[in-house]
Order: sequence, then C-alpha cells, then structure tokens
Amino acid sequence: MNATFQSLILRLALSGLLGALIGLQLGNIWLGLCAALFGATVFFLRDFQRFYTWLSSGAGPEKPLLSTFWSNVRDQVVRIVRQHENEKTQLVADVEFFKDSFQALDSAVLVVDRSGEIDWANAAAEKMLGISLQRDSGEPLQNLLRAPAFLKYFESQKFDEPMLMRSPVDRSRQLEVQATVFREEYTLIFVRDITNYAQLERVRQDFVANVSHEMRTPLTVINGYLELLMDNKKELAEDVHAVLKKMLVQSRRMDDLVNDLLWLSRLESMPQPDRSEQFSLKGMLDGIIEDARVGSPSVTIELRIANDIFRDATVTPEQIQMHGAYEELRAAISNLVQNALKYTSADGHISIECSRYFNDFYLQVKDDGVGIDPVHLPRLTERFYRVDDSRTTDTGGTGLGLAIVKHVLKRHDARLRIRSKPGKGSTFTCVFPIASLSYTPLPASHQAGQATSGLRANGDPTAAI
Ligand code: ADP
Repeated sequence: MNATFQSLILRLALSGLLGALIGLQLGNIWLGLCAALFGATVFFLRDFQRFYTWLSSGAGPEKPLLSTFWSNVRDQVVRIVRQHENEKTQLVADVEFFKDSFQALDSAVLVVDRSGEIDWANAAAEKMLGISLQRDSGEPLQNLLRAPAFLKYFESQKFDEPMLMRSPVDRSRQLEVQATVFREEYTLIFVRDITNYAQLERVRQDFVANVSHEMRTPLTVINGYLELLMDNKKELAEDVHAVLKKMLVQSRRMDDLVNDLLWLSRLESMPQPDRSEQFSLKGMLDGIIEDARVGSPSVTIELRIANDIFRDATVTPEQIQMHGAYEELRAAISNLVQNALKYTSADGHISIECSRYFNDFYLQVKDDGVGIDPVHLPRLTERFYRVDDSRTTDTGGTGLGLAIVKHVLKRHDARLRIRSKPGKGSTFTCVFPIASLSYTPLPASHQAGQATSGLRANGDPTAAI
C-alpha cells in the first residue's frame, strides 16, 4: 500500500474516531461516527469532482486546490503528461531529422499508401519525377507517373529487382526505380539517377562489341591460312605440323571467344524478345539433342516431357509451343547441353526434363558428370568465371557460356538455378513463367490414347540433386 493511500485511510480513521468521541459526549456514539464519515465522504467526492473537471479539461497548468490525497494523484498525472509530452517532442524531432535527411538526398524518395496515393515526397522527387509534396500529396501516383514500364512494375507489386525508366521531366536522364513495401500498407519508392553509370556501361558495351568485331576479320584470315597450311601435311616437317596444329586450336578458341563476346553484346543491346514468336518446344530440344549426339555418340541423352504441364488438358509433347526468341533460347539450352557433354565421361548419362512446378515451367539439363564444388555456384554465371582453368582449357570453353544463358533467360523473365555435387553430377534448371508455354489443340480423334513419359510435377524437380 503506498503512502498516499495510507494517509487517506488514516484521515478516515481519525475523522471516524473524532465523530465517535463527539457522539459519546452527546450520548449517541453511532450517530457521531456516521456523521463524521458522511462529512469525510462529501469532502472526498468534492475533491474528486474538482480533480475530474481539471482532468477532463486537458490537465492544464492551472491546478485545482485539492486535499492531500487528490493533490498527490494530480501531481502523478502531471508527471505522466509531462513525460508523454517530452517523448512526443523527441519523436517529432526524430521524424523531422529523418525527413530532413531524406530531403537532403540527391535521389527521389516517395511514400505511397495502400490505395496508391502519395503520402510523402522529398525535394528531389520534383526534380526527377515532377512530383511535389505540396501540390500532389494525396494524388494517386499512377496519375502522375504514366510511363507504361513503371505502371506495370508498380501494379505487379513484385519489387525484387529495380526497374529502369526515363525521367518524365528530362528524357535524357535514366532513372532506376526500386520500391519496397513496409508496414504492409506503405510503399517506399527510391529513385536514383543512373545516367552517368548507364553512359559508362554503354561505352563499355560498345568497346567490347567494336573490339570483338574488329578481331573477327583477322582471325578468319589467320584460321583460313592455318587450315590451308595444314592441308599440305606431306610437305611439312612433323614438328612444324605440330606447331601449326597448336596455333589452329588457339586461334579457333579466340574465334569462339570473339563470337561469344559478340553474342553477349548483341543480347545487351537488343530490345526485349518478341513474345508473339512461338515454336515447338520438342522440335527445338530434338534439334539440340541431334547436334549433341553427332559430337558425342557414346553419351546417353534422354528427353522427358511431363504430360501434366497444362492443368486444363493432357497435352502431347508435340503440341507444346514455347513463346520467345527461338535463336536465343536454342543457343542457351544448347550451351547447357554442350556443357553437360563437356563435363561428363564418354559413357555418361544426360537428361533434359520439362515439367511444371506450381506456376513455373522447369526445363532441366541433368548430367552425372564431374559436378561442381558448391563454393563456385554463386559466381558460376559471371563472365570468365572458371571453376578450374585446366578443366576449361581441356574442354576449350570460353568462360562465357553460362553468362549468355543467364542473359537470355533474363530477357525471357526466366532464371537459372544450379544444383551440383562434386563427383555426382549437376542439374541446371531454367525456371520460366508457365505463361511462356501454350499448346495447339488436337482434333478430338487424336486426343485419346496419346501417351507421353510419366514425369510428374508432384514435387520440386530441382531437388533432384
Ligand atoms: P565454359 O565455356 O568455360 O564451359 P561456362 O560459362 O559455360 O564456361 O561454364 C563456367 C564453368 O562452369 C566452367 O568452366 C565449368 O567449370 C563449370 N560448368 C559448367 N557446366 C558444367 C557442368 N555441367 N558440369 C560441371 N561443371 C560445369
């Protein structure tokens, strides 16, 4: 029991005792006691009413005159109110501090609420996007930023990757937009001006493309002469022939390198592939397998296409159409198959498997070859990254194959997943959105009895290795 309450009880007891004594003098102890307690209660209620009125009017600085008990309670309230006010002032100062720091940024920052209306924007948002907090607060962002790429990005609510757009204020400026959802209902949009970086990147791309292009002609000439010289094997001394052979191997490697570099720079500079282009998935894979068998006849290559890729129909592999740039996708999948051949023994086993996993289409290239140490997996798709230089030199690789695959897949909204265990083999999975596929309906008479392989999409197929 605290001191305030103890003193209240003591006062009541004293009042009661005094009343009882006066009652005893007057001949009725109970009447005296009741009268004293009644008086004390009236005083208590009067002070309570004063306290309550003061509290309801906002506990202002004008303090009411109260008994010890109620003045203690009042002082406690004043202390709590002051503490809250201090905390509030500190909080407001903190918010202002963060707002000021966001204001000082060169990058634009916008906060948008659940309904897409602008809640807050910094000064750079006006310079980069033409959005001013004073003028546009509460306006739907989609009404102010009407670039189709931005609208698609914002409405998709998939903010894993940033998107690029031109500044609506100055079309020469290139912007990078990254959105993040916070507190479940707000979206923070961070916009960076990357014009200088984009220019540097363009210079780099042009440089690589020009150098590769310029090297092509001399390399073709060198290759041609070397082949010509080697054709006259009889007239050459054995050691000269051996030297020429080595030179030809190296100049062909350089030729491959130049071709891969040109491929990469074309992929970087080309617009997004035309999704209306479509081709037979099985036709493409059969062609890739045929090419692979020519070079490695003893390796077993198997193709398996699941029959439940489409939910609304059982579809034969021949009916399945893939949407995207045929040349690019063929080159990418072919690269994976060629790698599988390169890093698998002559009597190895390779399988190409197509299946569905939720809303994704998985195209997997599996081998039982040498495998890759997991430490290399995160960097494997970097240009010129090699697990083992001697391995690559033996197989004649350029170190650009997987970088090309990654780029092609990105252009098709797909991604590459790699699982591998040294000595056990590797699985390269191209994960496409299921919308990359469609099927051509068959006449009703064809539909019964079409059997395909039994590969079913009842678990994550990438878990295979
Ligand atoms: P390269 O042209 O050198 O093969 P890639 O970019 O295609 O270049 O591959 C990068 C590296 O990944 C290769 O050097 C190789 O060590 C490794 N690699 C790629 N595919 C496989 C595979 N199926 N099995 C084992 N290692 C592989």
